[in-house]
Amino acid sequence: MMSVSTDNLTGYSLTPAKPRLLMEYLEKNGLLEFFFLDDNFSPLSREDFYIAHTKEMVDNFFDRGKTSKILHINWTPEYAESVKYECASLYYAIRYAVQKPEEVCFSPSSAFHHANPTRSALFCAFSGQVIASMKVYYEFGLCGAYIDLDGHYGNSIDNSRDFVPDIDKAISPVCGNINIMARHKAYIEELKANLKILRTEVLENRIHYIVFCHGADSHEWDELASQLSTEEWVECSRLVYMLMQDIENETGKQIPLILTLFGGYRRDDYNSVLSLHSTDLVACLNILCGRTIYYKPEVKPRILKNE
Ligand SMILES: [Zn+2]
Repeated sequence: MMSVSTDNLTGYSLTPAKPRLLMEYLEKNGLLEFFFLDDNFSPLSREDFYIAHTKEMVDNFFDRGKTSKILHINWTPEYAESVKYECASLYYAIRYAVQKPEEVCFSPSSAFHHANPTRSALFCAFSGQVIASMKVYYEFGLCGAYIDLDGHYGNSIDNSRDFVPDIDKAISPVCGNINIMARHKAYIEELKANLKILRTEVLENRIHYIVFCHGADSHEWDELASQLSTEEWVECSRLVYMLMQDIENETGKQIPLILTLFGGYRRDDYNSVLSLHSTDLVACLNILCGRTIYYKPEVKPRILKNE
């Protein structure tokens, strides 16, 4: 896994360093032993980025270090290189999961869902979801769905519908980009309604794999969003994993499941972000992988200063 060091990062964005920080956190808490690590994969090629973006934008980024102002990340050669690996991480995770559905795959990646075909935005250099799913569609003819429970609407998939041929065959146009914008109880209810539609699409064989993006910025103490208490946030994890279990009981087979990270911004206590993600992973291990791990979330109330 390639991940950027924290040295050059300021303000909100520890996002490029998040994969490494999370792995360190898991190790410190004795949780890393439940994962089989595979960081032996190639970065994406230049052509892969052309799948979802204009050539001009991609070449400007990699050859000239030119990014959109609203990316909010300073371009460095190290960052540009890490982006190739981050997008590849999601692609290879999906690729592995569709071939081995009995194993849940985790891609510790984040920054994919705000870019659009012509520009990067809000910590997201490229549309990693679109690139990964298109490549999986080209290779296996499979269609996926994203349960995007980040605190912000993931626009990448919707904004790519007119730009990327065949995207509707690669990411379900019915419920391929589930985002919930409500709060608290209404959020949970809306999620349940969406999962019901997703369940039907999977059972009727129109969706073949599910990517769960449980962004920590849908938590009420996050700096950039605020929708769910800790209990509610954890309940969302449970609902998704129970759905997977229910589908398995109904069909007698496992549907490929891929987990990713997405947002989470706490300048006062980044451990809270890492702890929420760990709580989600433990819920998956306990509900779907037969583990009985006890892990208590360490999410601290936000300290309001210098905002
Ligand atoms: Zn977000």
